Amino acid sequence: GAIDEIKSRGYLLVGLSADFPPFEFVDENGNIVGFDVDLAKEIARRLGVELKIVDMTFDGLIPSLLTKKIDVIISGMTITEERKKVVAFSDPYFDAGQVIVVRKDSDFRPKTYEDLVGKTVAVQIGTTGDIEVSKYDGIKVVRFDKFTDAFLELKRGRADAVVLDSATARAFVAKNPDLVISSGVLSSEQYGIAVRKEDTDLLEFINSVLRELKKSPYDVLIEKWFSE
Ligand code: GLN
Repeated sequence: GAIDEIKSRGYLLVGLSADFPPFEFVDENGNIVGFDVDLAKEIARRLGVELKIVDMTFDGLIPSLLTKKIDVIISGMTITEERKKVVAFSDPYFDAGQVIVVRKDSDFRPKTYEDLVGKTVAVQIGTTGDIEVSKYDGIKVVRFDKFTDAFLELKRGRADAVVLDSATARAFVAKNPDLVISSGVLSSEQYGIAVRKEDTDLLEFINSVLRELKKSPYDVLIEKWFSE
C-alpha cells in the first residue's frame, strides 16, 4: 500500500500552495510555515519519515496528486462534491467560508456576490472563491496563480474586490491596512487533506492522526474511565 511505499522511500511528499496564510506561507526567512505545515510535520513524524514540501500553484495540486508527484495535498483545500469525484478527502480539519475584500479608500462595500455584478473580481485560479463568482455572468473574473497577485491587482485599482477564504483574508488584511473585509462569511466550507482514492491505508492513517490531535486531555480522561 501507499504507507509501505512512503516508509521505504523515507519521506512524505506534501503538496501545497504557499500563498495562503496562516495555513501555508513563506516567512521572513524564506521558510514555508503555517498550520498545514505543522499538520504535515505531525503526520510525517507519526509515519516515522521525513517531510518534503512541494510548493506549487493551487490548481496544480490535484493533477500532481493524480500523477503521483505528491502523496497528499494539505493546502486549505475545501472538501467539495466536484473534487470528491477525483480524490478522497480526510475528515474535516477546519471550518471556513468565502469573504469579499476591497480597498479601504474606496466607498465600495459589497455584502453579497450580487453586489459584485458589473465589477472586476480577482481570485486565485481553481479555488472555491473562483468557482462561486464565476457562476455570475455579470462579474468580470480575473484569475491568478497566486493570491498575492490577486491582491496586487486590487491594490493597483485594476480589480474592485478579491474573494477568498475568511481566515486567509483576515491574515492578509492584518498585514495590509489599505484593505478591508466588506462582507460576512458567504459560504460554509470545510478543509480536508486529499489523497488518491486507492490509497485507503494512508487515508485511514491520516484520519487516525486527526482524531488523536483533536482529542483533549479531558477527552482522554473520559475515554479512560467511561469506555468499555
Ligand atoms: N479553500 C479554498 C479552496 O479549496 C482555497 C484554498 C487555497 O487557496 N489554498 O478552493
